[in-house]
Amino acid sequence: MKPDAETRAIAAEVRAIYAEWEARPIERNCTGRGDCCRFRMTGRTPFLTKGEALVAAMAWRAAGRTSVPETADGACPFLKMNRCQIYEGRPFGCRTHFCDAAGGPATRKEVRDLIQRLEAIDARLGGRGGVNLPGAVAAAMAPRPRK
Ligand code: SF4
Repeated sequence: MKPDAETRAIAAEVRAIYAEWEARPIERNCTGRGDCCRFRMTGRTPFLTKGEALVAAMAWRAAGRTSVPETADGACPFLKMNRCQIYEGRPFGCRTHFCDAAGGPATRKEVRDLIQRLEAIDARLGGRGGVNLPGAVAAAMAPRPRK
C-alpha cells in the first residue's frame, strides 16, 4: 500500500531533520561493528518518536516486508549479517548514539533542537514520547483505521 500525502509529508519532515543532522560537523568514527544494534548486549534499546517510526516502517516496507520480525538474540530486528537493513530510514538515535569505540554518543546540546522537532512531530501525530524500536515500528506498520 502506498503512503498517503499526509504520511509522505511527515516522512519528508523527519528526513529533513536527519539531513540537518548529517550536515553537522561531528567527529566520530563508526566502522559499522553493529554492536550498538545488539540491545541485549548493550542494555539499551533506542526509543522512537512516531515520525521516526514512520520513516523506519516505510524503509522496511520498501524492502518488501509487512511485519517486524522477532529476534531470539535480543538484537535489533533490522540487523542482518551485521548490516542495518533500513539504513536510510534508521532512527535518530541510531544516527547519534555512537558507541565508545566510535567516539561516544553526541551530546544533548548537539542534538537538542532536532530532538525537539521530532518530539513536536510526535505530539502532532498523537504520540506521547518515545516507544522502544521494535514496538514503535510494528505499530507504524499496522494498517491505519479508516477515518
Ligand atoms: S535500526 Fe539499524 S542502525 Fe538502528 S539499531 Fe536497528 S540495525 Fe542498528
